[in-house]
Amino acid sequence: MGCPCSKQGLAEEDSESPKEKVLVRPHVRRVSGSARVETTEALIVSLDKETDQPRVRNKQNGSIGALALRDEVVEKRRERQHARTEANPKLSNIPRHVEGEQVAAGWPAWLSAVAGEVIKGWIPRRADSFEKLDKIGQGTYSNVYKARDLDSGRIVALKKVRFDNLEPESVRFMAREIQVLRRLDHPNVVKLDGLVTSRMSCSLYLVFEYMEHDLAGLAACPGIMFTEAQVKCYLQQLLRGLDHCHTRGVLHRDIKGSNLLLDNSGNLKIADFGLATFFHPDQKQALTSRVVTLWYRPPELLLGATDYAVGVDLWSTGCILAELLAGKPIMPGRTEVEQLHKIFKLCGSPSEEYWKKSKLPHATIFKPQQPYKRGILETFKDFPASALALLDTLLAIEPGDRGTASAALKSEVLP
Ligand code: ADP
Ligand code: MG
Repeated sequence: MGCPCSKQGLAEEDSESPKEKVLVRPHVRRVSGSARVETTEALIVSLDKETDQPRVRNKQNGSIGALALRDEVVEKRRERQHARTEANPKLSNIPRHVEGEQVAAGWPAWLSAVAGEVIKGWIPRRADSFEKLDKIGQGTYSNVYKARDLDSGRIVALKKVRFDNLEPESVRFMAREIQVLRRLDHPNVVKLDGLVTSRMSCSLYLVFEYMEHDLAGLAACPGIMFTEAQVKCYLQQLLRGLDHCHTRGVLHRDIKGSNLLLDNSGNLKIADFGLATFFHPDQKQALTSRVVTLWYRPPELLLGATDYAVGVDLWSTGCILAELLAGKPIMPGRTEVEQLHKIFKLCGSPSEEYWKKSKLPHATIFKPQQPYKRGILETFKDFPASALALLDTLLAIEPGDRGTASAALKSEVLP
């Protein structure tokens, strides 16, 4: 399952550690779907069925004009800020003497004081017990390196997470990724093996098992087209991993190709729990709607929903399934408005009952003047029938109609 693209190398200096020259794995980097996102705050929008275009009016000057486009970095930062403010189970304070024990064991005081619970029972690994080999990924909030664990000789991935150790909220938010990962244990979810830091350090690395590829990188390799059997195999593993997350009360909220890791034997593992959260299936909760990369974001989040559940991850899974079968992303919107428009065109616009019942914050500005008919079966008529049936379920406009990962696993399309 090798990827020919990964053999070429692009030299790039690591901005954070000028002493090290590192190689960037070219297949890892791909401009993601959220590259350009515009906000609804200053815009009044409606979808014009005649011209097939979103109509945008600037609130201040009333002019209809070009959408304000923003950089992914700004957007992702904002999403993380929103995610920070949502109600999450608070990390309970650990007793003072345990904090003392953690610091004696080598943990930095800033981490133990704010997130002692997430490091409970662990000992930090020292940075000099790893040899960095390559830089393999870079995001807004992390740099990821391939490294050798000098104690075991194993190849691992080190994710250096960015945060401000002087700001408790920032530490607490970063700690949530660790807390979520420690709650999960499944062959289709990346395993957190440990943490690298020291008493005097203000940085932190997450240690993971190393995976050779990510799905976005592989799919972007020229000439790579997955067979039907491969697509089914990846889908099954993705659904198994998701089912585990959902059963353990975790929503991923950023399912997309670059967060699905693959090894050379075709094993798939869900990674990047940086936007994940805990949820209670039977309780109302206030979560942020500013999650999930734009192309994979479900309509209810674009409409501002704050009480949502597993349906958000199932929608993204539907987008991935169709992308793998079609060989390209199915709804590459450049803005939130355009994204919603693409969704309505493909999946139909919500029923009158939905608009009335859901009371979503942005419903009045986004409601199209004329309803759109659902076009999934027609658009993807060349897909295998069983895959199309599952896709039709996963891309349901009503989140409740998407079912669950465990129900999808029983679908006919899977072996
Ligand atoms: P970010 O929050 O910055 O997106 P990710 O956890 O998604 O961080 O990691 C960024 C990229 O690094 C991934 O898209 C993937 O290409 C690579 N990567 C992450 N974890 C691993 C791993 N365990 N093995 C190999 N590559 C990885
Ligand atoms: Mg990622």
